[in-house]
Amino acid sequence: MKKIDYDNLNILKNDILFFLEHITIPNNPCIILDLDNTIIDSNGYFIKPIYEICLKCLNLNITIFIITGRVLNNQNLENTYNQINKLYYFVKQIYFRLPYLQNFYEYKKKARYDIFLKGYTCIATIGDNIWDIGLFGGNGFIIPTI
Ligand SMILES: [Mg+2]
Repeated sequence: MKKIDYDNLNILKNDILFFLEHITIPNNPCIILDLDNTIIDSNGYFIKPIYEICLKCLNLNITIFIITGRVLNNQNLENTYNQINKLYYFVKQIYFRLPYLQNFYEYKKKARYDIFLKGYTCIATIGDNIWDIGLFGGNGFIIPTI
């Protein structure tokens, strides 16, 4: 099981906060986050440095989207709702994966493209896997793991 490298994640968090404070924010800015091992750890708890980034985004009026590899079904909807708790109300939309979409690169890229088509400019994407970042994602940040 993947373990978050918190020492380096805290360095990354400061980098991202610096980035958010210093870039020119475009119109309709958004940030895109992965869910597992990005917002929520493998025990189902918030990953605090990322939670702090979310709060910063809310503060700067940057819309938050989540694109998760979790399959769309009632169980996952309920679990996700319970896990992200109060953050749920601040997230614009959560993309769940349809089971036939087996390729994470394609699925996540299409979801980012969908957000782009809605008129958002994504300034940053954060995730623990390489397919979490890329086209239509702005600056990509990979969560350090051990
Ligand atoms: Mg993940």
